[in-house]
Amino acid sequence: MDERGEVITATETTPGDVNVAHEMISLLESHHLNTGLKADTVVADSKYGTIDNFLDCHDRGIEAHMPDLKESAAKRIAGLSIFPEERFEYDRETDTYCCPAGQRLKPKSLHLYRQSRDYEAPKKICAACQLREQCTKNKTGRTLKRHLRQDDIDKMQEASRSAKAKRDIQTRKHLMERSFAQSDTVWI
Ligand code: SF4
Repeated sequence: MDERGEVITATETTPGDVNVAHEMISLLESHHLNTGLKADTVVADSKYGTIDNFLDCHDRGIEAHMPDLKESAAKRIAGLSIFPEERFEYDRETDTYCCPAGQRLKPKSLHLYRQSRDYEAPKKICAACQLREQCTKNKTGRTLKRHLRQDDIDKMQEASRSAKAKRDIQTRKHLMERSFAQSDTVWI
């Protein structure tokens, strides 16, 4: 790592309305093309922390040190004052979630576009539940979404919250006005 060099290895110029999250892979590929070096870590801000980017990094064997958008979703749920998803325990063997009332949420609708599946308890159970007010604002009961590659996402996001990732994210903050690159890490 050569922080002193602060060499820029790839750039992208886009209109202001472009979602920069979609530029991450092309920046990585430009870095590779321009330097002949494959990045083993990408450090970026939360705008890049999408599920697609975490999975792309996973499939390329690259560490993703960027805050994930799940934190924003968690804040949204906290705003609704309902049980956070962490209160629902996933059981891999039965592919179900156990809710705070001890009921099972089973896999229901599959959303191919989003690559996710909804998990729900029977509507009658949620309707009669004493914890309902704390659990959902939805008339038909609580629904959880699980990505079809949730295990890979969890692994990447857990690594993105490691002490090393936090240090990298902090360093990036200091350097964001002076884009720089190093031999094996790409800072976006
Ligand atoms: S409302 Fe439904 S999902 Fe929520 S705690 Fe009650 S039974 Fe479980």
